[in-house]
Amino acid sequence: MKLIKSSKLEIMPGRSINAPLPSDEAENVSPFILLHHFGPFEVNYLNKFEFEPHPHRGFEAVTILFDGEMEHKDSTGSHGKLSGGDVQWMTAGSGVLHEEKQAAGFLERGGIIHGIQLWINLPQAKKMTTPGYQDISSANIPAAMNGDITERVIAGTYKGVTGPAKTNSPMNVVHGIMPAGSETKLEIPAGFNSCLYITKGKLTVNGTEAGVSDLLLLDEAAELKAESDSEYLFLTGEPINEPVVQYGPFVMNTMGEIKQAFLDYREGKFGNIV
Ligand code: MN
Repeated sequence: MKLIKSSKLEIMPGRSINAPLPSDEAENVSPFILLHHFGPFEVNYLNKFEFEPHPHRGFEAVTILFDGEMEHKDSTGSHGKLSGGDVQWMTAGSGVLHEEKQAAGFLERGGIIHGIQLWINLPQAKKMTTPGYQDISSANIPAAMNGDITERVIAGTYKGVTGPAKTNSPMNVVHGIMPAGSETKLEIPAGFNSCLYITKGKLTVNGTEAGVSDLLLLDEAAELKAESDSEYLFLTGEPINEPVVQYGPFVMNTMGEIKQAFLDYREGKFGNIV
């Protein structure tokens, strides 16, 4: 087991997020290539949380929202709104242009936004797949109940519960909620890479104390004890054993493919947001 302390990344003036992946200690936990934890922070007219239109190619961008309301629009014509508990699973594939921002009504009221953006690599054979978009509402995310611990299964099959997200390689994405004092054990499927990211509270993981913004790379089953009301993201997946060349918003296998992505973007081949 290895504990990685998140570095802070200022993604807009005055707004820093936790960025444990990629980092100097872990380039990726294949197929998971990026993990950004934003908030909880106050969002209002003076302090927006929004990303102007930008392109992606070669991977999937997953937003797991814990609190707040966000809105998404992209060049495939998809338009989605998500609230606390919802998940947006976007397959950029051959290329998507999108914008991500707090929902309009939410901006008027103001409130707390808190969530995760996770980038999941696509195998070479699927990097140029048709872009897709899965809008997964909280009500459609089943949970494995273990005493008073809730383990929401977003993707894969975990403790007999199958999540709604369609994935392009084998993986489990689980959001766990543990009341103070509770204990559980996380099992790692054979051959899968695995990591645990803490989004709230304080946990003891195999005897090691860890808290919000810590990422733990796991190489064996993990015994968890919640030292306070805690939440985590437990990610396991079959590694994609291919070269990863990540440059800005594109994740491909070679630098040539990255250059091609920039050319295609400049030539308008990613389309427009409508
Ligand atoms: Mn994006």
